[in-house]
Amino acid sequence: MYAPPVQRLITELSKLPGIGNRTAQRLAFHILRASQEDGAALAQAVIEVKEKIGLCEVCFNLTDEPRCRICADPRRDHGVICVVEEPSDVIPMERMHEYDGVYHVLGGALSPIEGVDPEDLKIAELLARVAADEPTRVREVVLATNPTTTGEATALHIAEELRERAPDVTVTRLASGLPVGSDLEYADEVTLGKAFAGRRAV
Ligand SMILES: [Zn+2]
Repeated sequence: MYAPPVQRLITELSKLPGIGNRTAQRLAFHILRASQEDGAALAQAVIEVKEKIGLCEVCFNLTDEPRCRICADPRRDHGVICVVEEPSDVIPMERMHEYDGVYHVLGGALSPIEGVDPEDLKIAELLARVAADEPTRVREVVLATNPTTTGEATALHIAEELRERAPDVTVTRLASGLPVGSDLEYADEVTLGKAFAGRRAV
């Protein structure tokens, strides 16, 4: 129906989450109407993130440096590690302005059904960080995985591992109050702030 380059653009856009075929067509026509500069800027921005953005060598958050800004910041409390599933989960935690510790991004949640095992996540790296005592001795690990079945299973697994290997470290879980089955990413600051303030030892 369309010239092959247009069809290719529609196909690529429709791979994005939440973008159906009709929205992809609408976006493609928007891009076709846009100026040469705007079109090139969009394409360049996509190329640049893929080239320049990688994972922080400490916490596995997204960064354009070897270490992310949070890990590199000496004013942050490196004795508290907040464990989240995805880099996008760091944003709501930062937005609530109550947390001054550092993070550890697992890269997903345990899911036997989808074949996600502990080795597929950055769990060993977390345990190594806690054991390393560098640059500060870790006092607390806050498990902020999503309030979903897989997020709960992941929190439970990590809590058990930590209890065994680092019994001196306090392990806490965000309080309930977060909508069950939802993603941290979509929690508002007030709800998340309450869940953080009310975190309990597990
Ligand atoms: Zn980092």
